[in-house]
Amino acid sequence: MHVFTSIKPMQEISLKLKAEGKTIGLVPTMGYLHEGHLSLAVRARQENDIVVMSNFVNPLQFGPKEDFATYPRDLDRDNKQAESVGVDYVFAPSGEEMYPEDYSTYVEVKGGATEKMCGRSRPGHFLGVTTVVLKLFLITQPNCAYFGQKDAQQAVVVRKMVEDLNLPMEIVTCPIVREKDGLALSSRNTYLSPEERAYALALPRALAAGRQLIQHGERNPGRVREEILRILESSPGIRVDYVEVVDGRTLDELPVLRGSVLLSAAVFVGKTRLIDNIDLEVAPCTAAC
Ligand code: AMP
Repeated sequence: MHVFTSIKPMQEISLKLKAEGKTIGLVPTMGYLHEGHLSLAVRARQENDIVVMSNFVNPLQFGPKEDFATYPRDLDRDNKQAESVGVDYVFAPSGEEMYPEDYSTYVEVKGGATEKMCGRSRPGHFLGVTTVVLKLFLITQPNCAYFGQKDAQQAVVVRKMVEDLNLPMEIVTCPIVREKDGLALSSRNTYLSPEERAYALALPRALAAGRQLIQHGERNPGRVREEILRILESSPGIRVDYVEVVDGRTLDELPVLRGSVLLSAAVFVGKTRLIDNIDLEVAPCTAAC
């Protein structure tokens, strides 16, 4: 496995491999790898000749009061893990390499999907995401890029950018990897004290209760949202940022639950902001509902 910290050699080798007819799968990450990240690399390994993993804590997607400075980092450990799942190239540039002092180009998906949920709570976040992701695509030339359903809104926004800009590549979303007790793996879980870690379980529990309501026949998005909110608000140690029940493909509001549905929430546990979601295909309600 090769580790590149400079753009030029990473881009040169990617262009060369592409010219040779090799398929490239890219797994963009901010490092501090866990089984969730590795599941994306495993899938990329199965589907491509070459697997590139980027490891870059992107300053552009953090707000001024957010955790950019304290975000956990361990490049050596990450590289060992990446190698163990068959990654061929790690791209781990510095901030200056990606955004030199005179950097001035930004890529923005406007409207709907970027304005709600995490876009509302974290202004400028998705502008940072789409800018870095497009740069990573141009540097590593992937046929396919692998994203986790954990960041469902990110996947919707990136897919929209790829569609709108006619990028000749595919976005693949992979299922959320969870701890045995249901907590979605996240690099930010390391911030949680044992007590907060226990409080955090309300998040997957509340979303699962929302899913259960739907499975029992509820088709009113407002009622499902209220039930998730009720559970979160009555759970100790949890401050709700948002709860949404929306169309899983567009994040638009739904008058009635049908087709691709996303139950999504963000909460604060102490100072740590956690997001989680459940996506499901909802059949029209029958008389048996
Ligand atoms: P991050 O390093 O948090 O930016 O995440 C990099 C990629 O890994 C994103 O596409 C995430 O959605 C994905 N990811 C993070 N956590 C998980 C998880 N628990 N299960 C599956 N994918 C994940």
